[in-house]
Amino acid sequence: MIRIFHHSFVLALLAIALVVVPVTINVAGTSAANYHWAREQSKFRLRVGDNVSGNWNKLLRSTLRDWNKNDTVTLDGVGGSSNPRDCRPVTGRVEICNSRYGTRTGWLGLARLYFARGGYIDAATVQMNDSFLNAGGNKYNTDAARRHTLCHELGHAIGLDHVTTRSCMNNSQHAVFNYLKPIRSDFRRLNRIYDHRDDGTTVSSASATSEEFAVSTSLPAEPSGRDATESVTVQTLEDGREVVTFIVWAKN
Ligand SMILES: [Zn+2]
Repeated sequence: MIRIFHHSFVLALLAIALVVVPVTINVAGTSAANYHWAREQSKFRLRVGDNVSGNWNKLLRSTLRDWNKNDTVTLDGVGGSSNPRDCRPVTGRVEICNSRYGTRTGWLGLARLYFARGGYIDAATVQMNDSFLNAGGNKYNTDAARRHTLCHELGHAIGLDHVTTRSCMNNSQHAVFNYLKPIRSDFRRLNRIYDHRDDGTTVSSASATSEEFAVSTSLPAEPSGRDATESVTVQTLEDGREVVTFIVWAKN
């Protein structure tokens, strides 16, 4: 299975970002898997805003149950605060959206991580593309592909990177149709990532706040000559903050 971006390349990207924006030091310090939310306890709760419609509601509930078998982060499903079309980030939360984002974009799903000063995640969004995942006749219009993609992107939103196990965090094309849930090794990784206390928190304990937030509203389009299942991009917003986007591409 070919993947464009190996860990070393992600690190290289982050290293490039580091030169431009020093605040990403903590992000780039070790590995991509060290992206994390800041919190003052090793066990914490994170709000997940439900902006989804149709068959995604049931799927979101079962995916949250699957992830909540870990004992590090408890994902609390709450009412959404975003418009599904542009899926704007909300400070301290994960927002989950679905829409017909188009087939020309080429992607099945994407997760965006927004970083606070200090390199902590302080907002995340997950978008499911119904133009593939809920389109009649499309090969990705299956319960398995929907489950995998939602599970996978939600895993990125809590700080996990790719694996080669039978977990939904596997990013191979085979995984899209076969590995639909997190597994115990994912839970152990979460435990390792969060087994320390940060000096402050980026996790919201309040209901939705509407802090002015420079956002990435443009949807990525498929690069030419693409030959991989997934790619990772790093962008700097107008306010100087960084956004990391994980994109799962459809394959013809
Ligand atoms: Zn991924």
